[in-house]
Amino acid sequence: MASIFTKIVSGEIPSYKIAEDEKYYAFLDINPLAEGHTLVVPKREVDYLFDLEDRELAEMMTFAKRVAVGIREAIPCNRIGVAVIGLDVPHAHIHLVPINEGGDLDFGKPKLTLSSEEFRTIQEKIQGKIR
Ligand code: 5GP
Repeated sequence: MASIFTKIVSGEIPSYKIAEDEKYYAFLDINPLAEGHTLVVPKREVDYLFDLEDRELAEMMTFAKRVAVGIREAIPCNRIGVAVIGLDVPHAHIHLVPINEGGDLDFGKPKLTLSSEEFRTIQEKIQGKIR
């Protein structure tokens, strides 16, 4: 059965898309740690990030860099934190989270609840900064 993220990539499940290319897709996390929290996934469905081919992993990080640069320009923050967890969704993904201090990347923290309008505003801000 297709993963949730494969359904997002295909458009079967809606998402706030940030960027995509032929092989990778970035969209806002629905339960964000911070405004601008984005997930980057390979379109090819692979469970575990480090099971990707070397070249795919390198390409995915390069794609994630482009997205992270855009997020940092759009959302005031110190850095873009990078995390790989993958315990909930068995489809490789990288979390990109705007942070100001180390504790901001604590996934045990309560998540933000954003309205669809707030998600759309964040989406547009970041999309406008992706090159
Ligand atoms: P992990 O597998 O890294 O522990 O967590 C999966 C992440 O995917 C979580 O941060 C969760 O909020 C996000 N997520 C799960 N389902 C959906 C969904 O349907 N849409 C979006 N945008 N994010 C999701």
